[in-house]
Amino acid sequence: MTRRPHASAGTEAASHGRPSREWRRPDRRRARTIRDRLRAAYGRPSLNPHRAPIDELVLTVLSQNTNDRNRDVAYARLRERFPGGWPEVRVAAVEEVEEAIRPGGLSNTKAARIGEILHALGDDDLTWLESAPLAEARDFLTSLPGVGRKTAACVLLFSYGRPDVPVDTHVFRVGGRLGLFRPGASFDEAHDELTRLAGGDPEDAYELHVALIRHGRRTCVAPAPRCDECPLRRVCPYARSDAVKAR
Ligand code: SF4
Repeated sequence: MTRRPHASAGTEAASHGRPSREWRRPDRRRARTIRDRLRAAYGRPSLNPHRAPIDELVLTVLSQNTNDRNRDVAYARLRERFPGGWPEVRVAAVEEVEEAIRPGGLSNTKAARIGEILHALGDDDLTWLESAPLAEARDFLTSLPGVGRKTAACVLLFSYGRPDVPVDTHVFRVGGRLGLFRPGASFDEAHDELTRLAGGDPEDAYELHVALIRHGRRTCVAPAPRCDECPLRRVCPYARSDAVKAR
């Protein structure tokens, strides 16, 4: 399965700066303006769906509270330890799974979660997610143990190119500062708004996700964004807000 920088795994409600002016719901045109400026800065990412939804599900569980490298080591050890694949992991002792994924941290919690998900899936290989109505596919995934909107969106977007935008802490912080969703919005509301802005276009959904993460790691960092060097400063309400002027 293709490796890629993964959505960071924090689940706490990151505080994002609040624009000083009244918020107005952005349209697709504004989203494209932001996308184009970020594309000029970071290039255009390429969406390559890997059609391995359970791999993605497990990888996303392993990504929680760790970095990409440790996640990948844990995932590789898990696959190596259980060559029979997910059916073998499903019936394995949780201690064996825990030992395999130990480099990824929180191994007892993650091993239990992976087991619960695989048991809930049974023989379902999730290939039906590719053609099911998006809301139905999302609802099913979020009904699995411990699976929230971000994990569901990762599975849908990265496995099958379904246009759902995963919102991690970077996407949430940068999107909030840019006013892409309502000040005070929850993570779930941010998912809804960003997915709406992607307009059902998988490439746009993927680019929005990747570009906001890149920007959040390099420029729009927490707690003090580098607005002076940001290609979005002319279109960013946060850059004009009292919070920045006071610095
Ligand atoms: S102008 Fe500042 S707050 Fe706005 S996106 Fe750029 S770095 Fe972030």
